[in-house]
Amino acid sequence: MKAIILLGPPGAGKGTLAESLVHDGYRHVSTGDILRDALKKGNALADEIRSYMESGSLVPDELIIRIIKELLSEADRDTLFMFDGFPRTLAQAECLDAIIDEVEGAISHVIMMQCDDEIIVKRLSGRRVCRQCGAVFHVDNKPPKVDGVCDHDGGEVYQRADDNEETIRNRLSVYSEQTKPLTSFYEEKGLLHPVDVSGGIQDTIDRARACLKG
Ligand code: AMP
Repeated sequence: MKAIILLGPPGAGKGTLAESLVHDGYRHVSTGDILRDALKKGNALADEIRSYMESGSLVPDELIIRIIKELLSEADRDTLFMFDGFPRTLAQAECLDAIIDEVEGAISHVIMMQCDDEIIVKRLSGRRVCRQCGAVFHVDNKPPKVDGVCDHDGGEVYQRADDNEETIRNRLSVYSEQTKPLTSFYEEKGLLHPVDVSGGIQDTIDRARACLKG
């Protein structure tokens, strides 16, 4: 098993970059999408996670680790994973290392997406997402062709409950307290590739692809 990690604050464009890199053969794993799917289904997991997600706090590590272990246990040895929104704490990163070591796999690159907080607030408050396929739109920069309707599959394009300014600011502080320490964790392993994502979408994709080739 090989893996790359997309690391960066909420709104840095991890999902948008992932949509593009999927065409290079990666299997995209977004813990945020998995959790939102559970909320939509209203299964047992939904009650456990709702309050964390709505306030922009992190869901407890044990739960995320359980989800990831289950997913990876079913994976083929030569799957190329692209983790988006995972790991988000040191405990999650250490656990991922242990799982990968066990199957003699490797993390090849950690793409660290860097962006100014104020740009993020602007991006996230205008972000809209397809309820069906998760495609990402923006009211100003990338509106769907038909208002409220996904260009790809006709799904409903909606605003996530946690994309309001108060929750966005909370998510940014959660990120800097709990997830940013992962930067030095991966830097020490020589895996960190910083990418400036304050430019356009295509510029970010080009920069990330150049890192992945290196
Ligand atoms: P995202 O779509 O990645 O921005 O995630 C949305 C929300 O899901 C986060 O604000 C957290 O509440 C939760 N979440 C997603 N991934 C994780 C993770 N790896 N660890 C803890 N909570 C997570």
